Amino acid sequence: MLEYDLLLRGGTLIDPAAGVHALKDVAVTGGKIAAICDPGTEQRARKIVDVGGLQVVPGLIDMHVHVFPGVSHFGVDPDSTCIARGVTTAVDFGTAGGLIFDGFRQLVIDRANTRVFALLHIAGQGMISSPGTLPALGELTDLRYCNVENVVRTVERHRDCIVGIKIRLTENLAEEGKNEAPGLQLARQAADETGLPLVIHSPDSSLPMSHVMNNMRTGDVLTHCYHGRRCGIVDEKGRVLPETKDKLDEGLLMDVGHGWGSFSWPVAQSMVDAGVIADFISSDLHTYNLHGPVFDLLTTMDKFLLLGMDFDEVIRRTTAEPAKFLNRQHEIGTLAVGATADITVLEIEEGKFPLKDSHGVIKNGTQRLEVRHTFRAGRPTGLLPRPTEQHLHARAATS
Ligand SMILES: [Zn+2]
Repeated sequence: MLEYDLLLRGGTLIDPAAGVHALKDVAVTGGKIAAICDPGTEQRARKIVDVGGLQVVPGLIDMHVHVFPGVSHFGVDPDSTCIARGVTTAVDFGTAGGLIFDGFRQLVIDRANTRVFALLHIAGQGMISSPGTLPALGELTDLRYCNVENVVRTVERHRDCIVGIKIRLTENLAEEGKNEAPGLQLARQAADETGLPLVIHSPDSSLPMSHVMNNMRTGDVLTHCYHGRRCGIVDEKGRVLPETKDKLDEGLLMDVGHGWGSFSWPVAQSMVDAGVIADFISSDLHTYNLHGPVFDLLTTMDKFLLLGMDFDEVIRRTTAEPAKFLNRQHEIGTLAVGATADITVLEIEEGKFPLKDSHGVIKNGTQRLEVRHTFRAGRPTGLLPRPTEQHLHARAATS
């Protein structure tokens, strides 16, 4: 009889990409999924892990993190915040621009145990200063840093890991708003010239949402979609703006990007109730929200369970959907036979769990996800507990 490297036995397999939700054993050989077996069938494996009562899902993908520690003040360590908390793949959301991306590749992508992809910031220096740093300068303060030729050359060097072009449209990052519209034009141009999606952050932009929408195309991403600040996608009554609705119908994608200031319970609830659902459930994990209110991707997933989203849909938006965006849906985000054996094993804990949004509003959840095992390409990785709550000075954060 065939002997597998690893067998996860007795768990419930939930793989939305493959349409599977059933009691199944998962067999791994050579870092790949070798077989999905009916429970109770005799299988031989060098290592057998009993996952009875647990949920076996594809390695989670956090579409929105900032993981360039020591260079950007936003940056957190990818391995202690992502893979140690069940996230096997993370997308750095434009922390680095073209002037520093070679360093991001060498210091983070090539070294981390977490699989890291990246958006490239339109501004060459990326997110290394903000209104809360010294100097107190946003990345769009001087548009000479937004050099399209530099963006194109950087993408050519790193096309295997750069998956989009990022811009933050926020008034106080852009010379009191003066540089927002021309910066957006440059980002649009860079996305067109590289053939990559444009990814826009809009909270507290001085531009009307219609202006932002006019610059977005099918396959582009609007992040921080459930924020309660200026330049959101809902009107004061919580209804989705018509210009946004049209774009969503055409295939604009939405990302949660919870962050320090971008997840509002009332906005998220009204939009989920109206069926306007983000494609990607992501944390926007960075220095200023790691110790609350974000903590990790799992806590953001808990919030969507509380909003009434089905568990399988929460998993789809943290596995299959981001894998599709990354154009790696046959390798990651699924546990189909032949896929990379990135696997997260979760326990659904029952109880009373306070969950705080970005405005300090607390709702009590009845379920909480906790990671019990993580495997990257079939190898077990170490886990860490959820970060503790601390009140950090958060002036430097704008997302
Ligand atoms: Zn972010």
